[in-house]
Amino acid sequence: MSSTSKRCKPRGACGPVAAATDWLPPAVIGQERLRQQLTDWSEPGGNRVLLLTGPAGSGRKTILTQLAWRLLCQADENRGSQHGPCGRCMACRYLKEGVHPDFRLLSPQEGEKTLPIDRLRRELVNDLFLRPQLGRNKVYILEADYLSESAQNAILKSLEEAPPYAYIFLTATRPDQVLPTILSRLEVYRMSPYADSALYDIIRLHGIETESRPARLAVLLAAGNPGEAIRLAGCDWLDEIIDTGSWLWQLLQQPGHAVLLTDGYNKVAALRDSAASSQQQERLNALLTLYDLRLQLSLDLLYENQSGQLAGAGRQTEAAIWLRELLPSAVLPLAAAEQALEALRSFNQALARNGNFEISCCRTLLRLQQALSTAGMAGSSSRGGPCR
Ligand SMILES: [Zn+2]
Repeated sequence: MSSTSKRCKPRGACGPVAAATDWLPPAVIGQERLRQQLTDWSEPGGNRVLLLTGPAGSGRKTILTQLAWRLLCQADENRGSQHGPCGRCMACRYLKEGVHPDFRLLSPQEGEKTLPIDRLRRELVNDLFLRPQLGRNKVYILEADYLSESAQNAILKSLEEAPPYAYIFLTATRPDQVLPTILSRLEVYRMSPYADSALYDIIRLHGIETESRPARLAVLLAAGNPGEAIRLAGCDWLDEIIDTGSWLWQLLQQPGHAVLLTDGYNKVAALRDSAASSQQQERLNALLTLYDLRLQLSLDLLYENQSGQLAGAGRQTEAAIWLRELLPSAVLPLAAAEQALEALRSFNQALARNGNFEISCCRTLLRLQQALSTAGMAGSSSRGGPCR
């Protein structure tokens, strides 16, 4: 058994036996289409080699691990069903301990950039033809991102001639890096973006308090990526983004340049300077993304009003409602919303070019103020009130 199998330590709860077996791989959340597609994979006689593509942090390995456990679980009542692994049989116990003899998760070990071919030969190419030791199936999970061209060529025959008891699952963030000869032998599936509600469910499974402000911001910034939501929710600087973002948003809606160019600028600079140089860009991006998402919400409302459509579902999500409460605004004229978004994009480009921070930041603040204070005037006292 490869020592790398321990990387697949299961987390989260699953199914009706969650209380006793919360170490099982989590059930597939927020990927209904994929779950339906993969259900047949636990039926005998189906296809046995697949590639699952999606961005880093999207849960590819988690989903394939769940599928692998289902294929290896020995509980009769679960075979071929849509239920998760039982968590009680010998196979489930071995999987929990990371010592199941018929399960291999092939990842690079520390210090390795790619999977060495000799390990690939030992743990897949040669191992493939040894019959399962415990049950009826064997499962291999490989990360194609770490397979060199020679390594991919080395597994070609294994994919082509996998015996009926063997399942080979590949993952990739960049399917265009997988050789066409390999791709043609695989059934290819793709992860869908996760809805915010699914991200809340997933981070809750990881023990994160979803009502907290950092968790809400993490979900917004993660843009449908659960791994990113979990990582961000653990960052200690999200509160500072929220405080600065909320305070500055109010200031931007008021006229007058003096405070904006002193206190306003100093707040943004402090946000940047409180981080190590490698993380400054991420913090500024978080603030810009927060404003970008808020302005997009305003634009959605304007387009819906213009086209006479009903309010879009996107504006009614928990995350959108929180965002409008955090950054309240009167109704923005269309030109003002677009002008503000353009100011954010220009700032982003200036940051990417390593332009003068103070000049770009002050220019952006002035352009944002010009746009947002227009909204204050347009949304006069008769229309003020509910946040838009
Ligand atoms: Zn089991």
